[in-house]
Amino acid sequence: MSIQRSTQQWQAADAAHFLHPFTDFQSLAKKGSRIITKAENIYLTDSEGQRILDAMSGLWCVNVGYGQQALIDAATRQMKELPFYNAFFQTATPPAIELAELLSEVTPPQFQHVFFSGSGSEGNDTVVRMVRRYWDILGQPERQVIISRHNAYHGSTMAGASLGGMSGMHAQGGLPIPNIVHIDQPYWAEHGQHMSRDEFGLIAARWLEDKILAVGPEKVAAFIGEPVQGAGGVIIPPATYWPEVQRICDQYGILLVSDEVICGFGRTGRWFGCETMGFRPDLMTFAKGVTSGYVPLGGVMVGERIAKVLIEQGGEFEHGYTYSGHPVACAVALANIKLIQQLKLVEHVHDDVGPYLAEAFATLRDHPLVGDAETCGLMGALLLVKDKAGLKPFDESVGIGMVCRGHCFGNGLIMRAVGNRMIIAPPLVITRAQIDEMMGLIRRCLDLTLADAQREKWQ
Ligand code: PMP
Repeated sequence: MSIQRSTQQWQAADAAHFLHPFTDFQSLAKKGSRIITKAENIYLTDSEGQRILDAMSGLWCVNVGYGQQALIDAATRQMKELPFYNAFFQTATPPAIELAELLSEVTPPQFQHVFFSGSGSEGNDTVVRMVRRYWDILGQPERQVIISRHNAYHGSTMAGASLGGMSGMHAQGGLPIPNIVHIDQPYWAEHGQHMSRDEFGLIAARWLEDKILAVGPEKVAAFIGEPVQGAGGVIIPPATYWPEVQRICDQYGILLVSDEVICGFGRTGRWFGCETMGFRPDLMTFAKGVTSGYVPLGGVMVGERIAKVLIEQGGEFEHGYTYSGHPVACAVALANIKLIQQLKLVEHVHDDVGPYLAEAFATLRDHPLVGDAETCGLMGALLLVKDKAGLKPFDESVGIGMVCRGHCFGNGLIMRAVGNRMIIAPPLVITRAQIDEMMGLIRRCLDLTLADAQREKWQ
């Protein structure tokens, strides 16, 4: 930061020049951005000096917490030694090679190869290119269709947003691109309340089979899903869902893609979400947690079924990014993954803070506003309801999630609202004492929201 400015000065310059992602530019300009100036461990500081507990890990990414010296040192060292070289022209750099090797170790055994990108969106663009190329090489070019889910999030590039199932995104820019279709999400509270969660999981998985049959199995290339939908509101599928999806993909020979951009690198209590959910993908997209967000990096783990065909029969794969295998990003990723191993963060989530958070979250079910409270590892969601019976929602015009989020913002807690779901994904380094602190803040914000609901007669 070159100049010290007041909050108002930052906000004025921000409003004058910076178009933020997923933002109504005019309304933000009127209100002014909150300026975050520094961070340590799980706490942010804003330009007014307020301390904020970051229960969203930045944007689901700062898994090792802020201020980790090992990552800072790795970046500094690599910048001095070799800040950039490409991997296009029969060249490679040591950090990219070492990271490819380490990723093959920490990912499930079918993954021995990686294709690097700069982000999760680019990773999913690579998935689309690679899946279609795979079937081309095998002489089945008619296998073009990729099946995804409504309310999925797979990024914001043309292919990423098309794979995603966000209606607001599809409404801008002529999306989805051809041959990407969607089925409903496995959201029990929306579709399955009249049956058990396990029964519902099987039914939701069979929507995939229905779609395969409707499209024609010979035209379907792949199915893609997040093990737990993140941006869609932390939708945790019933335990029966993914094994049945796996069975269906196997039956029709279609490729299974796990988008691990959020779930990867320990978030769910295993290294990857597919391990928690019990399925065996052919491709895995990753980003965010691979570097804990310290620098941008993404990519696709390529399973042996696909790698063998691409390598042995494919010739040149006409695809790549300037920053595929960026040495500084790869050096930071190496330091980050080694730190996750050293600190035993995956075990910490699985055995300690994950179950502790689950227990703490369950106590929120007593709160008058909370219709459901669920967690998976260190992801959690609260469903805010007008009436617990039948999980009756508030009128959409109330914007109950945004009201609650406003209280969080004002009370030193970052919690995200997705419609009527309040969600968290705190850094994996969080301790039990910090979970207690976070739960105290969450309760306070729920109480303030409830007071609003009573006063304004929304209930
Ligand atoms: N996939 C998933 C599951 C994501 O959550 C995200 C980002 N939130 C993306 C892809 C896109 O990643 P990026 O923003 O790095 O392009």
